[in-house]
Amino acid sequence: VVKRGLKSRGTGLPVWSDVPVMMDIVRTRSALRDAVANWRKSDLSVALVPTMGALHEGHLDLVRAAKQRADRVITTIFVNPTQFAAHEDLGRYPRDEARDASLLKGVGCDLIYAPNASEMYPEGFSTHIRVSGVTQRLEGSFRPHFFAGVAIVVAKLFSQSRPDFAFFGEKDWQQLQVVTQMARDLDLNLDVIGVPTRREADGLAMSSRNAYLTEEERVVAPALKRALDVIYEATLAQPSAVAAIAQDATANLIKAGFTSVDYLEACHAQTLQPWTHGDPVRVLGAAWLGKTRLIDNRG
Ligand code: AMP
Repeated sequence: VVKRGLKSRGTGLPVWSDVPVMMDIVRTRSALRDAVANWRKSDLSVALVPTMGALHEGHLDLVRAAKQRADRVITTIFVNPTQFAAHEDLGRYPRDEARDASLLKGVGCDLIYAPNASEMYPEGFSTHIRVSGVTQRLEGSFRPHFFAGVAIVVAKLFSQSRPDFAFFGEKDWQQLQVVTQMARDLDLNLDVIGVPTRREADGLAMSSRNAYLTEEERVVAPALKRALDVIYEATLAQPSAVAAIAQDATANLIKAGFTSVDYLEACHAQTLQPWTHGDPVRVLGAAWLGKTRLIDNRG
C-alpha cells in the first residue's frame, strides 16, 4: 500500500512523494479499541464507515462525508458471512485489500479495521438481533437472512469502535432505515448518517457487484434506474396510477433484457410500507440480470 513520503530533492534519495508509507490496518478488536482510546484522550470525534471492500467512488463518498463531520474516520472492510445465504455470492464476492487501502488513503481515511471471520464470530457465538417492521418487506422478503446478518455485524462494529457517527449509503435505503431503527432502539448513542447514491454517467448505481456484469448486461443495467424514475414521476404526476405504472415498468425491465424482477415499488420512505398519496416516497427496485442481482432506489 503506497503512501507518499519524505525526501530531499536533488539528492537522488527518494522523496516524500515517492516513498511508500503504510496505511494503518488493524485486524483485532483490541487493536481497534487502543486506536480509538488514543484519539479519545485528545477529545477527537470518530466516524465509522462499514463496508465489504471492493471499494468504488460510492464508498469513498461515505469516507469523504465522514471526514467532513468527524476528526477521525475508521473504514471497516469485512465481507460478513452472516448476511449471505448459502446459495449467495459470499465465495466469489470481489476482494482486493491493497487496492482498497490505497483508495482509502487517498481520501484521508485514518484507520482500516479488517477483522477476519473468527475475530468477529468466535467459536460459540450465539446472539441474534431481529429488527421488525422495516425489515419485513422488499429485501427482507427476498433475502430473509439478510437484515439479521447486517444488524448483528453493524451492532458489533458499533460496540467495538464506539463511534460518534456512522455513515451508510442511500444505495441500500432499506438497510439505512434498519440501522437507524436499531441504533435508536438499542440506545447506541451515535448518529447514523445517510449519503446519496453515487452513479455512473448512464445512471447505474455504483456497486461492487457491477463487476459481475458481462458487457451486454452492463448495457442493459441502467434500465433499472430509469424504471425507478418513471415510478417516482408517477407519484408526483399520477398518484392514482402508481401501481399500474409500476407493473408496466416491471414488464419493460424484462423487455429491456433483465432476467427477472424481485420488486419495483413506491414505498413510504421510512416504514417501507406500500406508498399512499401524501406519504414521503421512496421508490425501490431489485432485479436480476443473468446471475447478478442489482438493487437501487430513489426519492
Ligand atoms: P457494501 O460494501 O456494498 O456493503 O457497501 C458499504 C456501504 O457503502 C453501504 O453503506 C452502502 O450503502 C454504501 N454504498 C454502496 N454503493 C454505494 C453508492 N453507489 N453510493 C453511495 N453509497 C454506496
